[in-house]
Amino acid sequence: MDSTADAVVVGSGPNGLAAAVLLARAGLAVDLHEAAPEPGGGARSARLFDADVVHDVCSAVHPMAVASPFFRGFDLAAHGVELCQPEVAYGHPVDRRRTGLAYADLERTCARLGPDADRWRHLMGPLVEHTRELTDLLLGDLRRPPTPGLAAVLAPRVLALGTGADELLFRGPEAPALLAGVAAHPMGRLPSLVAGGTAVLLGHLAHAGGWPVPRGGTQVLTDALVADFRAHGGRVHVHSRVTDLRQFAKTRAVLLDVGPRGFLDLARPLLPPRYRRALENVRYGPAAAKVDFLVSEPIPWREPELANTATVHIGGTAAQVRVAENTVAAGRRADEPYVLLAQPMAADPSRGLAHKQPIWAYAHVPNGDPLDATEIVRARIERFAPGFGDTVLASRGVPAPELEAYNANYVGGDISGAALTLRQLLARPVVRWNPHTTPLGGVYLCSGATPPGPGVHGMAGLHAAKAALRREFGIRALPTGW
Ligand SMILES: Cc1cc2nc3c(=O)[nH]c(=O)nc-3n(C[C@H](O)[C@H](O)[C@H](O)COP(=O)(O)OP(=O)(O)OC[C@H]3O[C@@H](n4cnc5c(N)ncnc54)[C@H](O)[C@@H]3O)c2cc1C
Repeated sequence: MDSTADAVVVGSGPNGLAAAVLLARAGLAVDLHEAAPEPGGGARSARLFDADVVHDVCSAVHPMAVASPFFRGFDLAAHGVELCQPEVAYGHPVDRRRTGLAYADLERTCARLGPDADRWRHLMGPLVEHTRELTDLLLGDLRRPPTPGLAAVLAPRVLALGTGADELLFRGPEAPALLAGVAAHPMGRLPSLVAGGTAVLLGHLAHAGGWPVPRGGTQVLTDALVADFRAHGGRVHVHSRVTDLRQFAKTRAVLLDVGPRGFLDLARPLLPPRYRRALENVRYGPAAAKVDFLVSEPIPWREPELANTATVHIGGTAAQVRVAENTVAAGRRADEPYVLLAQPMAADPSRGLAHKQPIWAYAHVPNGDPLDATEIVRARIERFAPGFGDTVLASRGVPAPELEAYNANYVGGDISGAALTLRQLLARPVVRWNPHTTPLGGVYLCSGATPPGPGVHGMAGLHAAKAALRREFGIRALPTGW
């Protein structure tokens, strides 16, 4: 397979597609190769059990897409994508009686937190005020320091959330549980600075850009990107697994939406020993054990207000979330694992019918764990929604190794592309001034295994494409919006 294109992109996840869009809009002839039968990577939807019901196969909820400078420039609305915002950004049942609710409206959240209202306002308010600067920084290429003003807002909050100190300040269990539920997203030790940073980023977005679901399913994001790419002359090749980088020896720029292991598979003999060893030393983190349910009615939550959110964190108290996450981070199964759940019809009724609805969930498990988590997740939901089991019409579990078979970037089921430790966040995937470049001339990395990390934001694609345009084609003036 030799390519006559100016540039080739390997992999069509949101980052690969973002890179492809940018390169094609800059006027280059671009070929995009995708191993799977359809483009999209972690941004695909499917009718898994029933022709009337759309399930998100991987990503489901998109605070990062709203915050992302790439998607801001791309303008999803202009491409017909509607992001449906639930009233409650995310919810977190703590026990039988108490539930934390992060409303899109900050003041409403505070009002519900009673004695912790002021503390929550103090924590989130300044972050919301600085949201544009903050998201541009954290979704940037992580090489630029914050301005002094932003540092003064950010540093104490990341430290408080990253060391567990925040918990001492709250009186009730709801606020700490809300924060722990968000901090658990990167799947690692708790507390940690990475978890604290995640809680700051995603936590404040609940009250800024929101935690929306796209009308029609995550697939519409992919469809919009693919349509734009094709409209600018781009060519998509599906069923096209690339196995050796030397296929593109004559192509001026090759952008790889693959992780460290994928890069090794493609280019091992070409890589300088030091860089190769650094890639071999990248560690992979805990895994997702995905479960999809088709249910006959909305989840019968004990707390009725949970019907108004698309996202529910099931983990109990902050202390229980911590125990579960630290157990999994140590490589063992948790008795009561943390579960992330999405009920998209709470915000987007178009996903199914009143009596046939999709539920999306995954439990955190050790890397490579072959566990089918269906029964565990069912029991975790049932605890806070008695009778849930009776509403299940169909289900399927996707153990961690099957996720890797579905998408080679999820090594052992690690959906972050590589463990999100502080070291691996700052040197992602290796120590290098511009980590999107590689020692191979014209070859760039653009997946979630590079800065700014996982999530559907397209920013790794944007950073890599900018570098390739500048270095390989001398193009500095970027297409509109970027
Ligand atoms: C179960 C699950 C739930 C998630 N939930 C969310 C969520 O709600 N919100 C959110 O923001 N993020 C979520 N994520 C994370 C998000 O999906 C990823 O961070 C994101 O998709 C990463 O994008 P990417 O472009 O870097 O890579 P990917 O989306 O992983 O895409 C990489 C693509 O490259 C292809 N590929 C790999 N190697 C080759 C090769 N050699 N040749 C050709 N093609 C190749 C793969 O087939 C794949 O299509 C979730 C992920 C999973 C798995």
